[in-house]
Amino acid sequence: MKSSDKLALFGGPAVRSTYIPYGRQWIDDTDIEAVIEVLKSDYLTTGPKIEQFEQAIAHFVGAKFAVAFSSGTAALHAACFAAGINEESQVITSPMTFAASANCVLYMGGTPVFADIDPHTYNISPASVREKLTSKTKAIIPVDFTGQPAAYKEIREIAKENNLVVIEDAAHAIGAKYKGAPVGSFNDMTMFSFHPVKHITTGEGGMITTNNESYYQKLVQFRSHGITRDSAKLSIKDEPYYYEMQHLGFNYRLTDLQAALGLSQLQKLDHFIKKRKHIVSLYNESFKDHPALIPPFQAKEAESSWHLYIIRLNLNRLTTSRKEIVAALHGENIGVNVHYIPVHQHPYYQNKGFRTGECPEAEKLYQEIISLPLFPKMTEQDAQDVIHAVKKVLAYYASAHS
Ligand SMILES: *Cc1c(COP(=O)(O)O)cnc(C)c1O
Repeated sequence: MKSSDKLALFGGPAVRSTYIPYGRQWIDDTDIEAVIEVLKSDYLTTGPKIEQFEQAIAHFVGAKFAVAFSSGTAALHAACFAAGINEESQVITSPMTFAASANCVLYMGGTPVFADIDPHTYNISPASVREKLTSKTKAIIPVDFTGQPAAYKEIREIAKENNLVVIEDAAHAIGAKYKGAPVGSFNDMTMFSFHPVKHITTGEGGMITTNNESYYQKLVQFRSHGITRDSAKLSIKDEPYYYEMQHLGFNYRLTDLQAALGLSQLQKLDHFIKKRKHIVSLYNESFKDHPALIPPFQAKEAESSWHLYIIRLNLNRLTTSRKEIVAALHGENIGVNVHYIPVHQHPYYQNKGFRTGECPEAEKLYQEIISLPLFPKMTEQDAQDVIHAVKKVLAYYASAHS
């Protein structure tokens, strides 16, 4: 194709006159009021809103305990600490994720090991997890990619047989279900993120849910410098001002301003998920028979809460690369994105000795995927614009043109 052809097509009016991002938050006046109320109160941090938010999340997902953190990444770090990950440990995770899912293992001095993905669900493949097990494997961090829970029946079996901790990265999956059970209720620890692109936001923020009191205690102490005031844990018990730092922790606390925002957002989560599912149904209906597209596959046992909508290109039916298609969609003012560069292919991981070729399914998938805009405030018209633009660009690059 000559560049003059491209001008002929994309020199005309774009499908949309204004840019639509791939994801964004939805903040309304009740959210703003909730934050203002905290600003006028006595506690900006370590106040009552934290516990209220924790209890509300624990209740929502059906877990005994929840611990709030300053980010999802901090929450993953704390979970790795609570699981006892150290310099001797290997932890198996998916390469098809944000870097934080593996970085948290490195924070503890441990070694992340990447298992390949299932080519249908794009989640970590239990068969590949089995192949990567060694005597040093201590934990598995499955990622509920795009909002679809991973294959927990198989993963939990592997964990049980090998005495492994399962830390679920559910940054995409609050509100999702696996075999009818809410995500956050059935693994050793589950992490949620409240970054603005996620289902509900606190600006930055994260949470771990667990049913295990020992993990709960460790998470709380790690969040605040490794310090405790719990008299049951102290070596001196009769001095009221006394506290002890018993291990190296961090300041990973969420503020009350953020917790109040999170509480207010949580009231709307069911509505947000309904809106996401509606957009997804419009996309699925429009793309299901498209020869150049593979729409997302949903496993029977999993009910996604739809953080991302990813189309996979059938490059055999197209005359160009994913890169050109993304550029063309940006030209139409459609803010598409790519999730994710496989973690082991980042320069930092390559420098540590990880190699392209170790997860072929994830590496191939990465070349072919595009995340379409998906967020609850999208209108019917927004969705139709995205569908129109995708069809327009794919028609232009269909192999019949070559
Ligand atoms: C967003 C995200 C994280 C990290 O959460 P933050 O709150 O941004 O620190 C971890 N894993 C996945 C899969 C994510 O999407």
